Amino acid sequence: MKQRVSALYQHAEKYFSRAFVTPEVTFRRSGRNAGTAFLNQNRINLNGALFTENRDAFFSQVIPHEISHLLVWQLYGRVKPHGKEWQHMMEEVFNTPASATHSFDLAPLNLKTFRYRCNCDVIELSVRRHNNVLKGQRYLCRRCNSYLTAE
Ligand SMILES: [Zn+2]
Ligand SMILES: [Zn+2]
Repeated sequence: MKQRVSALYQHAEKYFSRAFVTPEVTFRRSGRNAGTAFLNQNRINLNGALFTENRDAFFSQVIPHEISHLLVWQLYGRVKPHGKEWQHMMEEVFNTPASATHSFDLAPLNLKTFRYRCNCDVIELSVRRHNNVLKGQRYLCRRCNSYLTAE
């Protein structure tokens, strides 16, 4: 994660021939947002649950997307969030399709979960884990050590 962020920053610094302060990256709960850029704090927050399930999409899209917001803010100030400056940053500087913006808000990254039950609780499983169960994998509750079964 840190490496990916540093690599993108090094790339941007080369492109613009200037230094940027590397942002703080946090993993706080953020509802359905994959990532959020906090411009004044020079911080990006990533949705930890979504990150775990969609690492590739985060590295290829979400992180460049949010970093582009920070860099555009530092370079141009208050402009349209996904305007031409941001698109240029994504496409020209990071070589990442700016049109991919919305794809990670939808199906593969959604927060849809399936309810399972163990002997002590109800547990929400991700779509990926649920699909694994359908293929025969079994999950144990860490607390009561019983197998999870679909509700
Ligand atoms: Zn955005
Ligand atoms: Zn349990």
